[in-house]
Amino acid sequence: MDILNASEIREILKVTVRPEVISFAGGLPAPELFPVDDLRRAAEAVLDRSGREALQYSTTQGHEPLREAIARRMAQAYGSTSSPDDILVTSGSQQGLDLVAKLFLDDGDVVLCESPTYIGMTQAFSVFRPRFVEVAMDDEGMVADALAQALRAHPEAKLVYTIPTFQNPTGKTWSAARRRAVMEIATAHEVPVIEDNPYGELRFEGEPVPLLKQFDPKGLVLYLGTFSKVFCPGLRLAWVEGQASFIEKLVLLKQGADLHTSTLAQHLLAEYLQSADIDANIDALRSLYRCRRDAMLEAIAAAFPPGIVHTRPQGGLFLWVELPPHVSARDVLARSLERQVAFVPGGSFFPNGGHENTLRLNYSNMPEERIREGITRLASVLREVTVGAPA
Ligand code: PMP
Repeated sequence: MDILNASEIREILKVTVRPEVISFAGGLPAPELFPVDDLRRAAEAVLDRSGREALQYSTTQGHEPLREAIARRMAQAYGSTSSPDDILVTSGSQQGLDLVAKLFLDDGDVVLCESPTYIGMTQAFSVFRPRFVEVAMDDEGMVADALAQALRAHPEAKLVYTIPTFQNPTGKTWSAARRRAVMEIATAHEVPVIEDNPYGELRFEGEPVPLLKQFDPKGLVLYLGTFSKVFCPGLRLAWVEGQASFIEKLVLLKQGADLHTSTLAQHLLAEYLQSADIDANIDALRSLYRCRRDAMLEAIAAAFPPGIVHTRPQGGLFLWVELPPHVSARDVLARSLERQVAFVPGGSFFPNGGHENTLRLNYSNMPEERIREGITRLASVLREVTVGAPA
């Protein structure tokens, strides 16, 4: 079923490449802020200075200057004290998820995750046919008591997968108290925790929250970071950070998968981080996404019929909508595609199905006028399908 859902999303994304379609479907960053000129200069510098090295095979764990830069950035952003030796460079976090599955899972194992969760994780893990146990979420994040209960019911669970900050798909962020509580439970059960954090640096409102990793006395957290959303996804550059015994095994698994991440891409990124100002670019992304989120929230407030609830993300790329229980987001999608508006029905993000009355809206990839127009069209569909619904 996971594979079916993933292919369904691919079908929706096929429609969204048509320029006339207003797409809230993908999770694409704003391409106008890709640092093309800085990257051109970085490419010239790399090829002039160390072209032969940058085009050669390289070590599996990753280009050392890049790992050093990642460790420095983690320290700067989160006060984390990881060393470059604790970092493995991967081809996107998607590869990190694939390697993590190979490290921890055997056929049919239990995986605990948020409800809903990231579909790319269910896809990466699905080769092991895991049993996904969805743990309830509220506005503060994963419900700690529900996790404790799930771990009592499934003491054999192999890992807990989480996206605690600006979650894909809901845009929700766990509170600090909830992070502490969840980590206390994970620590007591000694279960590994995956902290997938592609969006954490894209906060445009509110106070930063500590990482799960900062409540981790036993080194159970494997942290996944990526440059896809703060730099560009096309170079496929990301990392896994964690205790040495995990990283050593992941290095071996990565060796078997692809020997190493593109040497040239790693050199380009290391040079870019050294010679350009990624933080200025992240600031620009934050203000752009804030404007786009505001445009979406304002259009929703102006046009959605009553009886519909949605999140108000403080960062990241997505917001989440819950329609009245009897309304199917797939029907809404069929009708809104006729009006050239696309989104992803939320049912796809629940590994065990259900929740067909939910949907995910992306606001990072469309200009504000298109967001307003798209939400207005979507609202007209919602008015049609919710007519006569109990509010
Ligand atoms: N995890 C989450 C939660 C994501 O939203 C994404 C991107 N959509 C990824 C992992 C994969 O990111 P990438 O492979 O581009 O680093």
